[in-house]
Amino acid sequence: MDHFKDQLKNELAVEKIQKIIFDIIFQHVQDMVYVMKVEKGPIFRYIFANEAGFIKANLPVDAIGRTMEEVLPHDFALNLKKNYVKLLQKQKIIHFDDVFYFEDGRKVYGETILTPIFNTEKNISYVVAVTRDVTEWYIEKNKIIESEQQYRSIVDNNLDAIFTINLEGKILEANPAAGKMTGYTEKQMTGRSIYNLINDRDLESFRLQIEQACSGYALETFDCKIINRKGQLLIVHLKTIPIVVHSVINGVYVICKDLSEQAKNMETIKYMAFHDQLTGLYNRRALLEHLNELLNLPDKKVKEFALISIDLDRFKYLNDTMGHLAGDEILKQVAERLGQYQNSYCYVYRQGGDEFNILFINKNRKATVEFVQKIFSQFVQSFYFNSHEYYISPSIGISMYPNDGKDAEMLIKNADEALFRVKEKGKAHYQFYRMDMYPAFSNIVTLETHLRKAIEREELILFFQPQIHLSTGEAKSFEALLRWNNSEFGLVSPSDFIPLAEDTGFIISIGHWVIEKACEQIKKWNEQGFLDIRIAINISPKQFQHHKLVNIIQFMIEKYKINPSSLEIEITEGAMSNTKETIPILRKLKQLGLTISVDDFGTGYSSLSYLKEFPIDVLKIDRSFIRDILIDEKAAAITSTIIHLGKSLGLEVIAEGVENSRQVEFLKKEQCHKIQGFYYSKPISAPDIERKFLKPTIID
Ligand code: C2E
Ligand code: MG
Ligand code: MG
Repeated sequence: MDHFKDQLKNELAVEKIQKIIFDIIFQHVQDMVYVMKVEKGPIFRYIFANEAGFIKANLPVDAIGRTMEEVLPHDFALNLKKNYVKLLQKQKIIHFDDVFYFEDGRKVYGETILTPIFNTEKNISYVVAVTRDVTEWYIEKNKIIESEQQYRSIVDNNLDAIFTINLEGKILEANPAAGKMTGYTEKQMTGRSIYNLINDRDLESFRLQIEQACSGYALETFDCKIINRKGQLLIVHLKTIPIVVHSVINGVYVICKDLSEQAKNMETIKYMAFHDQLTGLYNRRALLEHLNELLNLPDKKVKEFALISIDLDRFKYLNDTMGHLAGDEILKQVAERLGQYQNSYCYVYRQGGDEFNILFINKNRKATVEFVQKIFSQFVQSFYFNSHEYYISPSIGISMYPNDGKDAEMLIKNADEALFRVKEKGKAHYQFYRMDMYPAFSNIVTLETHLRKAIEREELILFFQPQIHLSTGEAKSFEALLRWNNSEFGLVSPSDFIPLAEDTGFIISIGHWVIEKACEQIKKWNEQGFLDIRIAINISPKQFQHHKLVNIIQFMIEKYKINPSSLEIEITEGAMSNTKETIPILRKLKQLGLTISVDDFGTGYSSLSYLKEFPIDVLKIDRSFIRDILIDEKAAAITSTIIHLGKSLGLEVIAEGVENSRQVEFLKKEQCHKIQGFYYSKPISAPDIERKFLKPTIID
C-alpha cells in the first residue's frame, strides 16, 4: 500500500516536474526547441515548438501539424531536411550549424542538435531539435577573427622586423621581416632571448629601453645595432611598444627598421661630399678637413708634414684644343697614377681643374724630395686618349708644416706660392716655399696692381748680360734680362714678378715690350757700328704658346729692320715638353731666321730626343750644374755630357752662372763655347754694355 502511495506520489511529482520542464522549455529557454514527427517519405511534421522557436525562426502561428516544407521557405526547408535525413541514416544525435535569412535581411546563426526518439520498434518516430541562436556570439567571434587577421596583416606583411617578447625578453613571435633581417627562421628565434640579437655595445641602453616599455612607455632609438646570423652588424631604428592586455603589460613589441641601406646612403652622401666626382680622389673640402684634423691632433702626434701642390703644365691648352672629354680622361689617368701613393700617411686630393694636392704626413724635407721625384717619374710615361699620346709634366710647390705655416690657409697659400714660382721657371720642376719669396710685397694683389702700371710708367728696363766666347774672349751675344724699377719698391727681380705676370696673362704685354725693346736695341747698336751682335730674350711658357708670338716678332724685326739672326729667343724645356705643339711654332720662328736656344737646359725632365727634332741653335746649361761642377762629380759629368752632346748635334753651348775662374777653367777644358755669369759681368744697362764690351765692327 505504501509502495503504491509512493508510486502515486512519484507519478504526481513526475507530472509536476514534467510540467515545470515543459514550461521552462516553452517559455523561458532562449534556445529554439522543436519536436518533429517522422512520417514516411520521410516527412517531418511540427508537433511542438516553444516560444523562442516560433519567434526567432519566424514560424507562422499555424505551424503545428504542418510539415517542414509547408512552414519554412523552400531553400531553407530543403537544407534543413538534409540534416534530418542524415539523422535517420545515422540513427544518432547530430550537430550542425545553420544560418537563417529573413525577409527583412536579418541573418541568424544557429547551432542545432537533433536528438532522435525511438519507438518500441526501434524506429525513429520523433526528432527533438534544439537550435541555439549564436548570432551575437558569431558576430563577436567574427570580429575577433577579423581583428586577429588585421593584426596578422600588419605583422606578417610589415617590412620592419617585429619581435613579440615577454617581460623577460624571450621572443614569443617574430614576423617574416625579422627572419629576413636576422637570417634566422621564426622557429629558431622563438624561445630565444632578444638580448642575444643585440650588439654588446648597445645592450645596456637596449635593456633600459625594454625596462621602460615594460613600465608602459613606448620609446625609440636610432642607432642600435643588431647582429644577424652571419655575425654582421645591422644598424636599426628601434621602437619598443608595451603590449597591454586587460590593463596589464604582458610583453613588448620590438620593431626594428633596417637602416643599413639608409646608412649606406648616408655613407654615399658623405663620400660624395669629400670626394672628387671625376677622379674619386679626395676633394678640396677633404683637404681642409684633414689639414685641420692634423693641426688639431692632441699631443703633437704630427710633428712635420708636407703639403704638396701639383699643377699640370699647359693642361688648359690641352683641354681647349683636344676637348673636355680628353681633358677629363687625362685627369683620371693622372689621378690614378697619383692615387696609388694614397695610404695612411699620404693623402691625395684633386682641388679642381688640373690642380692636385698631396699631404705627406710625418715626413721631413728629404723624404719629401724623394717622394716628389717619384711623382715626376709617374709623368715620364705618356698619357693616352683615343690612342693619341700626350706628354704632360707637373709643376710642384711644397710647403712644410710647421715652418711654412701653422694653419691650413697659410700652408695652402705658401704651397701655391712655391708652385707659382715653379711655373715661372718654365714648369716641370718642384720648389719648396721660402719665406723670402716675395720680400718686397706684402701681398700679390699689391704686386699685380703695380705691375699693370709698370709699362705706362716706363718702370721697365732691359739689362744685358754678356756671353763670352771662351776661345776669343769676345762678347758678341747678350742676354736681355728684364728689370723693374718701381718708385715704391725699388728694383724688383724678374723672379718676383714674372711668375705673377705669367699667371695673370700680363706676361703677353710685357713680352711684347721686351721683344720691341730688344729689336730697338739691336737697331741702335747696329747703327753704332756693332753689326755682328746678338741679343737673347727670354720667352715665358705662356708667351711661347701665344698665337701672335711669331707675328709680333716678325713685325718688330721688320719695323726695326734688323737681321733676324741677331735676335735670339730663349725657351725653357718645360715650355716645349709637348712635341706636337712645339715643333710648328719653332719652325715658324726658325723660318723667320731667329736663333733659338734652350734655357736652363738639364732641369726640365723632358726627353733628350727633342734635341734632334727641334730646330735649336743653342743650349744653355743651367746655373745649378755650373754651381756644382767643382764639388759634385755628377754635376761635372752632366755638364761635360751636355757640352759634348750639344757639340755633336752642331749646337752652340753656353754655360750660365759662371762665377769663378776655376769654373771657367773646367769649361774651357771641356771646350764649352761661351760662358755667361757674374765672373765676367752681372746684367748691366745698355750704355754700360757699350762701354765695356762692344767694339765697332770694321767694315772694309
Ligand atoms: P734666366 O733666363 O736663366 O736668366 C739668368 C739668370 O741668372 C738671371 O737672373 C741672371 O741675373 C742670373 N745670373 C747670371 N749669371 C749669374 C751668376 O753668375 N750667378 C748667379 N747667381 N746668377 C746669375 P735674373 O735676371 O734675376 O732673371 C731670372 C729669370 O727671370 C731668368 O732666368 C728668366 O727666366 C726670367 N726673366 C728675366 N727676364 C725675362 C724676360 O724679359 N722675359 C721673361 N719671360 N723672363 C725673364
Ligand atoms: Mg734666360
Ligand atoms: Mg737660364
